[in-house]
Amino acid sequence: MAAEKMGFGKIERKWQEKWEKAGIFRVREDRKKKKYYVLEMFPYPSAAGLHMGHIRNYAMGDCVARYKRMKGFNVLYPMGYDAFGLPAENAAIKSRTHPKRYTEKAIAGIKKNQKALGLSYDWKREVATCYPEYYKWNQWFFLQMLKKGLAYKKKAPVNWCPGCETVLANEQVKDGECWRCNSEVEEKMIEQWFFKITDYADELLDGLGKLPGWPEKIKVMQENWIGKSHGVDIHFTLEGDGRILPTFTTRCDTLFSVTFLAIAPEHPMIPELVKGTGNEENVSAFIRKAKKESIVDRTNEEKEKEGVFTGRYAINPVNKEKVPIYVANFALMYGSGIVMCDAHDKRDFRFARKYGIPLKFVISRDGKPTDPKDYDDAFTDDGILFGSGEFNGMKNMEALPKMAEWLEKNKMGKRVINYKLRDWGISRQRYWGTPIPIVYCDKCGTVPVPEKDLPVELPTDIKFTGHGNPLASHKGFVSAKCPKCRGPARRETDTMDTFVDSSWYFLRYCNPKSKKMFDESAKYWMPVDQYIGGAEHAVMHLLYARFFTMALKDVGLLNFDEPFTRLFNQGIVYKDGHKMSKSFGNVVTQEEISKKYGIDTARLFLLFVASPESQLEWSDKGVQGAYRFVKRFYKFVNDNAGRLSFGMHRAKTTRDRILEAKLAITVEEVSRQIEDFQFNLAIGNIMEFMNFLGVYAKGEVNGNLFGESVKTLIQLMSPFAPHISEELWERIGMRGFVSTSKWPAAGKVDKNAIGMESMMSRLGQDIEHVLRLAKVKPKSIKLIAAPSWKYGFIRKLSARMGKSRNPGEIIKGLMSDESLKPHGKDVARLVPYLLKIPEVVLSQKDEMSLLNEMKGPLEAEFGCRVLVESGDTSGSGKAVNAMPGKPGIEVS
Ligand SMILES: [Zn+2]
Ligand SMILES: [Zn+2]
Repeated sequence: MAAEKMGFGKIERKWQEKWEKAGIFRVREDRKKKKYYVLEMFPYPSAAGLHMGHIRNYAMGDCVARYKRMKGFNVLYPMGYDAFGLPAENAAIKSRTHPKRYTEKAIAGIKKNQKALGLSYDWKREVATCYPEYYKWNQWFFLQMLKKGLAYKKKAPVNWCPGCETVLANEQVKDGECWRCNSEVEEKMIEQWFFKITDYADELLDGLGKLPGWPEKIKVMQENWIGKSHGVDIHFTLEGDGRILPTFTTRCDTLFSVTFLAIAPEHPMIPELVKGTGNEENVSAFIRKAKKESIVDRTNEEKEKEGVFTGRYAINPVNKEKVPIYVANFALMYGSGIVMCDAHDKRDFRFARKYGIPLKFVISRDGKPTDPKDYDDAFTDDGILFGSGEFNGMKNMEALPKMAEWLEKNKMGKRVINYKLRDWGISRQRYWGTPIPIVYCDKCGTVPVPEKDLPVELPTDIKFTGHGNPLASHKGFVSAKCPKCRGPARRETDTMDTFVDSSWYFLRYCNPKSKKMFDESAKYWMPVDQYIGGAEHAVMHLLYARFFTMALKDVGLLNFDEPFTRLFNQGIVYKDGHKMSKSFGNVVTQEEISKKYGIDTARLFLLFVASPESQLEWSDKGVQGAYRFVKRFYKFVNDNAGRLSFGMHRAKTTRDRILEAKLAITVEEVSRQIEDFQFNLAIGNIMEFMNFLGVYAKGEVNGNLFGESVKTLIQLMSPFAPHISEELWERIGMRGFVSTSKWPAAGKVDKNAIGMESMMSRLGQDIEHVLRLAKVKPKSIKLIAAPSWKYGFIRKLSARMGKSRNPGEIIKGLMSDESLKPHGKDVARLVPYLLKIPEVVLSQKDEMSLLNEMKGPLEAEFGCRVLVESGDTSGSGKAVNAMPGKPGIEVS
C-alpha cells in the first residue's frame, strides 16, 4: 500500500500546519532553562536542491533537537543559506538569470523540501548571507581586522584567462584550461586582501587539545593543515656568488649525506638562477608543466617525481661539497621553498637514481659504513651515524638536536619553526559576494569605508558578459567619494571569499535581527553544543570558524575560544556503488520517496540502515523494511487504542513485571544511544520493544501499564518519525503535542524480571527444538522446574564464583562444598550447564508461577495442552536434567 493510501501525506501536512500555528519550535532566551544549541552546516542553495546526504544530515540534527527539547532543554535549532558564491554567478553567465534571482529560487526550493521533512527549525531565525543586513557584518568584521593589523594587502598569484581577460576561480580551471574558452590558463600576480590567520596558528593548534567532542580524524587533518614543524634553515651557499640559500629541514641529522637540492617550481629566484646557464628553456618548460599539477599529485608518494637541472650548484656548509640544484615538482613553496635531498629518503633516493645523481649514506644499523650502490632503495630506519664528522657513532635521533645547536653556533644554520598554514586570501574577482569596504584615493591611498557608511551594497543592475568582474565595469559602483578628503576615489571591486560568510553565521542565529553583528544573546546560546556536517569541511570552514571566534574574542566581543563543542560528521549516501549524483543517474528524490512511503519512513530509513558516521548504501529493500515498520507501528497503536488506560500502574503478573523491566531498559538505552549518535541502535531497540509489546498484547493486558508502554513507545518514536507519532499521540487521547511532551524517565530495572524474560525466550526455543526432534504433533507438553536444591546450589555457587565462568574454578569450588556430597553424581552432570549459568537465577517459586502464567500463551502458540510440575515431586525422567531457568521438557 502506498503512503498516500495510508493517509500519511495528509498526516504530515496536518501536523506541520499545527506545529507552525502553535509556534512550538520557536525559542527565546530563558536564563532559567538550560540551553542546547544544535546546528547543521547550512546548505549552499543551488538549482539541484537537496540530496539524500542533506536529508540524512537533517534527520540527525532534528532527532537530536527533538530529543533535547523533550528532555527539557531550551533548544536553539536554526536554518539558513550560504547564499553567495560562484555557481549562482556561473548560472547567470550561462542562462542569463540574475544571481540573486537564481539564488532566491534555489532557496525557495530547498526550503519547501525542508518544510516537507517536518524539521523542527525555528524559522523566525532564518538567515541568508546574500542580503545587506547579513553581509554588512562581514564588512564590519573586515574593518575590525584591518584595525588590528589582521587584514592586509599583498600581491598574490591568480589564475588568469588571456582569452576571457578575466581572473578564474580554481573551480573554473579544468586541466589547466579555462572552463569557458579552453585557453591555457596563466598565472598573474595581482594585489589581494588577506586575513592573517597565521597569527593564530599556535592557538588553533593548541585549541584542538581542548575539543574532546570532535572526531580524532578532523583534529588530525587540522593539525596537518597547520603543519607546525621544528627544524633548521641550513645555510647552503650558491656556488659562484656565495649567496645564502636557506634550505629548511626537519632532519639535519642527514646533512652529511646531502647530494642535491630541490627547489620549488614557484620559487621566485629561479629565473635569475638559470640565467646564462643555457638551461633557461628546459627549466621554464618544466615549470609550466609542474604548475598544472595539483599539490596532491605532486606530493603523492605513489606518483613518479620529475625535475630538471638548473645548471647551478650549492655548497654544503658542513663538508663544503658541491651539490647540484634541481627544480623538482615535489618541492613546494613551504618553508624556504628549497629542500635538501639525500639517500635516507625514499623520494630523494628514487629521484637521484632516475637522474643519475650520486648518493651516499650516513646512517646504518650498527654505524658501519654502507654504500647505496648495494641498495635498491633508501635506508629510512634510525641507526648510528657515520661519515658525519664529530657526530660519528651517535644515534641519529639523539644527534639531531645536538647538530641543530652546533649548526647554529657555527653559523651554518638557524633553528626555526615552520608552519604549512598560509594567510587566508579573501579577495575574489567576482560579483556575487560581499564587497570589500575599501576605496582608493589618489591623494590618501587605501582608505577603509567608515563603519557608519556600511553596508557597501552590492548593486543589482549588473551586466554579465563573462569578461572580467562585472563590478569593475559598473560606473556607479566604482566611483566613490574619498571618506578622508572628500575627493574622487575608486571603490575596491573585489568581493570576499564566501568562506567569510560561513565563518560566523552560527553567531547571527542567536539574534538575526540584531543591530550589531551579534549581541548579548550569543553569550546565552553559544557555543554550539552539537554541530553536524560533512567531513569535507575538515579544514577550510571548520578552521576559519575557529579563527573568527578567536579573533572576535580578542577584540572583546566573545568570551569563549571554540565555536563548536561537539562535532559529528555523517557518512556519505551511496547508491549502486556511487555517490548519489545526477551524473551517475542514481539520484533518489525526496518527492519520490515521500509520495511512495511518507517522509517519516525516509527519515527512519536514513537513521536506521547504517551507523551515522559510516557511508550509507541506499537500498529500496531497506526503505521498504522501514516502511513496513512504520505501518506496523501505526496499526498496532490504532488497533490497541481502546485497551489503554492511563493512571498509576502496578505490576500484577509476572508478565507485567517483565514488561515494566523491558520498558525501563528500553527508555534507558534509547536515551543513551541518541546522546551517543547511535541512532541505528536506538531504532533497533524501539523495534524490539514494539515486538515485545505485540506479544504482550496477545494475552490479558494491564490497562494502565499497557497505556504507559504505548505512550512511551510513541514518545521514543517521535524524534525519528515525528508526524505519525503526533497522530498516534492524539489517537490515544493525549493532549498537546508529543513533540513538546516530557521525555519518559527510565524507571528502575527489575533484574529478576529480565531473567524471567530471557528464560521465557529460551524456553520457547527449547520447546521448538524438542518438537523438531520428536517429529510428532504433541498432545501435551510437560514443563518440569528443577528440584529445589539446585536453586540453592546455584545461588551459593554464583556468590562464591563472583563473575567467573572459568570451569576449573567452578569445579574446584564444587568439590570443596560439604553440603553437596549427597548430590555428587548429579553435580558432575551439572558441569556443562555451569559454564552458561544465566545472569539472573529466579527462585523455584517464581519460576513455577511464571511457567503457570505462560501456560495460556504457550498453549496458544503450540496448539496443545501445557502442564507445569515441580522437579521435587514430578515422576518424569526429564526432571533430572532440569536446571534453574531451564525447565525439563517432556512431549507426549
Ligand atoms: Zn577563457
Ligand atoms: Zn582622499
